[in-house]
Amino acid sequence: MTASAIYDAVVVGGGPAGATAAHDLALRGRSVLLLDKAGRIKPCGGAIPPRLIRDFAIPDHLLAAKARAARMIAPSAKQVDMPVEGGFVGMVDREVFDEWLRERARNAGAERVQGQFERLERDDDGVSAVVCTVREGDGPPTTRRFSARAVIGADGARSRVAASIFPGEDKTPCVFAYHEIIRSPAHGQGGFDSARCDVVYDGRFSPDFYAWVFPHGDCSSVGVGSARKGFSLRGAAAALRRELGLGGCETIRTEGAPIPLRPLKRWDNGRDVVLAGDAAGVVAPASGEGIYYAMVGGREAACAADALLATGKAQALAGARRRFMKAHGQVFFILGIMQHFWYRNDKRRERFVAMCADPDVQHLTWQAYMNKELVKAKPGAHMRIFMKDMGHLLGMTPT
Ligand SMILES: Cc1cc2nc3c(=O)[nH]c(=O)nc-3n(C[C@H](O)[C@H](O)[C@H](O)COP(=O)(O)OP(=O)(O)OC[C@H]3O[C@@H](n4cnc5c(N)ncnc54)[C@H](O)[C@@H]3O)c2cc1C
Repeated sequence: MTASAIYDAVVVGGGPAGATAAHDLALRGRSVLLLDKAGRIKPCGGAIPPRLIRDFAIPDHLLAAKARAARMIAPSAKQVDMPVEGGFVGMVDREVFDEWLRERARNAGAERVQGQFERLERDDDGVSAVVCTVREGDGPPTTRRFSARAVIGADGARSRVAASIFPGEDKTPCVFAYHEIIRSPAHGQGGFDSARCDVVYDGRFSPDFYAWVFPHGDCSSVGVGSARKGFSLRGAAAALRRELGLGGCETIRTEGAPIPLRPLKRWDNGRDVVLAGDAAGVVAPASGEGIYYAMVGGREAACAADALLATGKAQALAGARRRFMKAHGQVFFILGIMQHFWYRNDKRRERFVAMCADPDVQHLTWQAYMNKELVKAKPGAHMRIFMKDMGHLLGMTPT
């Protein structure tokens, strides 16, 4: 086993959360090691909001497509189009996007190591050590040990870092999402629109979440998600493709991963480890949107680790969760209720899609998604939506 110098921080995981944390810490002048397991493209629809593009300075060339509308599709096949107000939803390919983020961190001064996190240990003087397996070239794997004053666990859903600081308490409820990357049909062919995201609410394709077609230029992501054990995600994806006329398109890749749907109660060990992104259970309920929240979580974790390094006060780490939940907890709560109510059965899904035709609903949905803020504008709109919501729920509004 090879030991190294003590880093200010070791970041485990080089997805959006970890790469952002490593970048921010390096910019603050900290010595940072970014450890990432090589070889797997993160399964992801790749939809990102303008707020992310703005706040994290994402260059235009990383956008494989720009979606200008969403089409909501009900179990009855009724469709409601929601044109994006004054902008677009960016679509990224995670293979390219994540590598760009990791390289940005390296250019800011972080050291990159390809290897698999195995466990956390403590040096004799109490400093944390990240033990990992590294494979260089064709050689046999070697075990390396990196000591650090702070460790950021950003190793995604089912995080091994989370499991090692909260043994037995890291079981966040998850939706399992599966998608097939297909060669996109030509724009207009069979109704395919290369600038539109289709979101399908139909129990045949997802009994408790939703299914989607997201355009990525030459390719598209066709996916389904469900938390229900025994539900065949592959079968549902095949049926969805047939239903939407995408059955004959070339399949390029098939892959799946869990999406955590509840933030962990604690993100830090009260000493020197803090979690970010999926590892902290942070994905928006109802939408499954996680990239933006992972990057915000990575930024907050970096800020908290920096405060720990500057002051030696371990309670600084708790600031990451506190600030995140202050900014986004309310939205997560509302989305959780929405998922609980509307994704229950096809009757409710039908009503949910019908509700999306409402201009007030469209306005508030896009404002909340694009800017990540609950909108205060349009006085009365919230009340109107609430009344319509109740009407739909109680079955008093025709679908
Ligand atoms: C099918 C699917 C579709 C989705 N679609 C969208 C979408 O359209 N828009 C959206 O915003 N969100 C979407 N999400 C959610 C989003 O992908 C995640 O929330 C986001 O990737 C979380 O980022 P992260 O950095 O926390 O974790 P990840 O992106 O999972 O990154 C974790 C990193 O840690 C590394 N790692 C893992 N284990 C180890 C280890 N032991 N040692 C070293 N490194 C390790 C991995 O290689 C990876 O690079 C989707 C998720 C799925 C599964």
